[in-house]
Amino acid sequence: QPVADIRQVAVLGATGSIGASALDVIARHPRRLRASVLAAGGNVDALLELCISHRPDHAVIADPAAYPALRDGLRAAGLDTQAHTGDQALEALVAGTGCDTVVAAIVGAAGLGSTLAAAHAGKRLLLANKESLVLAGELVIAAARASGAEIVPVDSEHSAVFQCLRSCQAEGVSRIMLTASGGPFRGWDRTRLAQVTPAQAVAHPKWSMGPKISVDSATLMNKGLEVIEAHHLFGLPAGRIGVLVHPQSLVHALVEYVDGSTLAQLGLPDMRTALAVGLGWPERIDSGVGGLDLLAQGRLEFEAPDLAAFPCLRLAQEAMAAGGTAPAVLNAANEEAVSAFLQGRMGFLGIPALVEDALAALPAAPAGSLEALLAADADARRFARQRIDTMHPAGIPAA
Ligand code: NAD
Ligand code: MG
Repeated sequence: QPVADIRQVAVLGATGSIGASALDVIARHPRRLRASVLAAGGNVDALLELCISHRPDHAVIADPAAYPALRDGLRAAGLDTQAHTGDQALEALVAGTGCDTVVAAIVGAAGLGSTLAAAHAGKRLLLANKESLVLAGELVIAAARASGAEIVPVDSEHSAVFQCLRSCQAEGVSRIMLTASGGPFRGWDRTRLAQVTPAQAVAHPKWSMGPKISVDSATLMNKGLEVIEAHHLFGLPAGRIGVLVHPQSLVHALVEYVDGSTLAQLGLPDMRTALAVGLGWPERIDSGVGGLDLLAQGRLEFEAPDLAAFPCLRLAQEAMAAGGTAPAVLNAANEEAVSAFLQGRMGFLGIPALVEDALAALPAAPAGSLEALLAADADARRFARQRIDTMHPAGIPAA
């Protein structure tokens, strides 16, 4: 292939779990794919290592205090990679001519600005950052429509739905069903859940992921965020998006048609498959993930989620039904709660309790603009931090 045909990929959240999977797939296809921009939060050493292996044109570190170390490290390594810091620099690079494809894999609402920039600029957007859709899904989808940006979901369930819809008729869908592994505490009751430690919560049985999404999987908030994500991506109302617990994590989603036919997508639980789908689409490219040996896998099981033990899924469904600013409040309160839990400042059951309180204290208001959504996000974070500070002063870990 001529050099001009190489897809220039910006990998945002390059030092994370999805970032690593994306770079693994990119490195398998040097004549087709190239990492031209790498961006990370604060870990300069990890970002420098990636720059040495992938030789991007630009590297961005979000933490301004870390910028001198990045700049000097790139120079010391003899690289031509330009160093940058700050949201504005990141958004300009995402929107600029230095990339045609953006892997949005920053964790949390911090990824919204760059996701929106890619959507406005008409890039192919490989969207892993589900929080940006939960917070401002209408705006992201409208921006992509207006610019012609092609969104290819990277969340495994949504990649599964995307693949089913593209390989068949997209009309006549009666409902989609997202599967959930059930997380590390499937089958536990609230008495046991009250004792859960951060180390237990991040040890996911099937997927290897960053700490925030691992805790979200353990509370089932991840599935709640994914229902909202699916609503925006596929334009279906809440009542037509189901959730099935499937502990083997081999069936990622199912699409049911009005004629009774159901299509499912299956594969090993490895995010490189969904990233390869997005990087190669509509062609299929090697991801490094092997095929599925169903005989070796044995049984596939399905059960209903336990909403009494795991109220986060219900809270997300309620926030989605309330609409307006409610999903932004849900997402922000959850981010603050998960961070407090990971710091040992509150117990596992404090997460749904805090999210529920935030939703009650900050009732849904109409949210036509980005400013209104960001204000709701800020209000919910303030509410959550105040609550955490009063109930769990820093330095005194919850039992
Ligand atoms: P992670 O914690 O492993 O990585 C997060 C990345 O974001 C890191 O590179 C970090 O440096 C970067 N980052 C954090 N704050 C930043 C900021 N303010 N500016 C720039 N960069 C920042 O997380 P992950 O597991 O890779 O998840 C990333 C996103 O993908 C999340 O939204 C998650 O929900 C989604 N996702 C992940 C998986 C998975 O298997 N890991 C699956 C589906 C969806
Ligand atoms: Mg998922």
